[in-house]
Amino acid sequence: MKAANFEYRRPATLAEALRLLAEGQGQAKPIGGGQSLGPMLNLRLTRPKQVIDIAALPELRQVREEGAWIRVGAAVTHAEIEDGTHALLRGTPMQSVAGGIAYRAIRNRGTVGGSLAHADPAADWVLTASALGAEVEIAAAAGTRRVAADRFMHGAYTTALGEGELIAALWVPRLGASARWGYFKFCRKTGEFAEASCAALFDAERKVARIVIGALDSAPQALPSLAAQVARSGEKPVRPAIEAAVKVAAPGKDAVDRKLLVAAVERCLGQVFMPEHAE
Ligand SMILES: Cc1cc2nc3c(=O)[nH]c(=O)nc-3n(C[C@H](O)[C@H](O)[C@H](O)COP(=O)(O)OP(=O)(O)OC[C@H]3O[C@@H](n4cnc5c(N)ncnc54)[C@H](O)[C@@H]3O)c2cc1C
Repeated sequence: MKAANFEYRRPATLAEALRLLAEGQGQAKPIGGGQSLGPMLNLRLTRPKQVIDIAALPELRQVREEGAWIRVGAAVTHAEIEDGTHALLRGTPMQSVAGGIAYRAIRNRGTVGGSLAHADPAADWVLTASALGAEVEIAAAAGTRRVAADRFMHGAYTTALGEGELIAALWVPRLGASARWGYFKFCRKTGEFAEASCAALFDAERKVARIVIGALDSAPQALPSLAAQVARSGEKPVRPAIEAAVKVAAPGKDAVDRKLLVAAVERCLGQVFMPEHAE
């Protein structure tokens, strides 16, 4: 099947894109890499009157630092992060996650903003952004606002984005030297969406720990009591504690899915507490 007719617009500036979105009154859709929107258009799951191409907007293509944050433009691709094109993201958790997203062909086009906006429960950036304590910059003709990543996704394919808004950037906190990162996902096949996933951050100096599980039917879920235990003890929790935390965070999952999640958390924390990280 082919997409229903739509008007294709390629604004030169973010301001123009936001004006077009506002004028579209819900009938205009931004397109980033087109890796999710393309199939949705072809399957006629969505029928916007206008598609606004934001992939080349200079304002969305930059990565820069500002104070304690790194601002990653929404139109930066997964492949650029994987390849270390932007020096500020080299050696960061985002670089290690990017290489495991889908297939290279998809990573070449797929963007950070498109992935966050699409809000697939099994997507990598929604999970990563939550665990990193990142914030999503949302732009509209009337101005911009920032939403904590763990409050941005409301549920499967549902986000805090309102009519006429788009994601301009992801703000990621710079990590201290003592920060340790873990990321693990179970995929049936390399390149497929995850069936269970976990991201974890532990910064011993700042006594900050976040453990988040993904590939649920909803937004990623934090395991706050387990994270508090890690922050307090500085040690990897034992399996029964992980099992208990997963049970609370994903009560609707059956025994098999829960086992996968528990294993994902164990392996993720295994990376955080790898011996080479020990001082
Ligand atoms: C076979 C396959 C396997 C995949 N596997 C994975 C995987 O393992 N992990 C993973 O995380 N992802 C995976 N993906 C998804 C991939 O990462 C896409 O890049 C991503 O979902 C969408 O990004 P995009 O830039 O192509 O967005 P698009 O397809 O252009 O847009 C997706 C949606 O977001 C909206 N949108 C786009 N940009 C913005 C913006 N800046 N602000 C607001 N709204 C916006 C569009 O209107 C549309 O509704 C997979 C996709 C495919 C096809």
